[in-house]
Amino acid sequence: MAQCTQVRPDLDFVRDMQAAGGENLKKCYQCATCAVACPIAPANNPYPRKEMVWASWGLKDKLMSDVDLWLCHNCGNCADLCPRGARPADVMGAARNMVYKDLTSPSIIGKWMSSIKGLPFLVAIPAFLWLFVWAVRSGAKGWFPRAADGRIVFGEIFYGDYTIDPIFIITFFGALFILYRGTMNLLERFRPEGSLLMLGNVKPWYMHLWDVLFEEILTHKKFQDCNDAKSDRKFGHMAVFYSFAILAVVTAIVAGGHWIGKVIPAVHLETPMPLIFPVKILANLGAIGLLCGLILLTLRRLKLDPKFQASSFYDWYLLGVIWAVAVTGLFSQIFRLMDCVTWAFCAYYLHLVVVWMLFAYLPWSKLGHFVYRVAALTYVRAIGRR
Ligand code: SF4
Ligand code: SF4
Repeated sequence: MAQCTQVRPDLDFVRDMQAAGGENLKKCYQCATCAVACPIAPANNPYPRKEMVWASWGLKDKLMSDVDLWLCHNCGNCADLCPRGARPADVMGAARNMVYKDLTSPSIIGKWMSSIKGLPFLVAIPAFLWLFVWAVRSGAKGWFPRAADGRIVFGEIFYGDYTIDPIFIITFFGALFILYRGTMNLLERFRPEGSLLMLGNVKPWYMHLWDVLFEEILTHKKFQDCNDAKSDRKFGHMAVFYSFAILAVVTAIVAGGHWIGKVIPAVHLETPMPLIFPVKILANLGAIGLLCGLILLTLRRLKLDPKFQASSFYDWYLLGVIWAVAVTGLFSQIFRLMDCVTWAFCAYYLHLVVVWMLFAYLPWSKLGHFVYRVAALTYVRAIGRR
């Protein structure tokens, strides 16, 4: 007996997809050129043609639980060859953006993160938070105090023990917890009904996780398979990734020196550190690497031909916040060395605002895909999809 499948299109979802970066999705006429053009799509049930149908028909559940969204490296090869200008790479990106939006709660953050209209709310939260700290700590010292020896020391206002460290520790671990819940929700969406039986020589999941971390993150090897010609993207990503890793190490050393130094005075680290101190040199190398990566990635985005590929608010939000972190950090240091106390404190305040935004909104931003993608790719390898 013939089986009848009822299709229930979600037209709001189609509109949301268009707003999230997939504005040309309705131009698709299902020729399948994109699925053939994609250099990394598996031969069995390739993407992105099927995702184009689901997006166009408003099949939200299918698209939001599609593990193949996370295999796409957004290289744009498919878009270059699409005869209709439907921009399939952007549609894949828009679908991932839609996943971040409601993957984890509080969903209001996901809503604010989805368009420029939400940006004032996202900025206002840390702006008021750090202004409150500043106002409380200014007290008798004034808003722009100097240390007893006349130096500019940000800790005079934003004292590590009572302000910076507790606020960032709570923010960081809170974001990690939300990210963990989001990752579990994502994996739950992928799970097929019933049970999956794997035959043959099955590797444990942590071996797949290591392969993914090595190939996709540490070496970005897959970028080569995907799109060798546009390697500025690979170098830009790697520069940003390794610079963040250097800056994370520096932060850990400074925090360790501060807190462990209370118990073991020999490891105590005094801040601000002199420019020639090895940890400071490492921090400045990290900052320079970050700026180089940002320049490469920003130039690449600006050079995109909108006929084939464009940038969404999600793309610009992440680049903008990382730029703001790098520039405000640099100017905090420059104004401090120039002894401009007012400008130094203002730059440092802005630095705290944007660093807080980077961490606190991570589970809803494109930075979260760093974790979501790793989880999805590990799952895909574990089920033998690639
Ligand atoms: S997105 Fe373009 S290439 Fe892909 S099926 Fe649609 S029209 Fe064809
Ligand atoms: S953007 Fe690249 S990886 Fe993604 S579907 Fe298109 S060709 Fe494949």
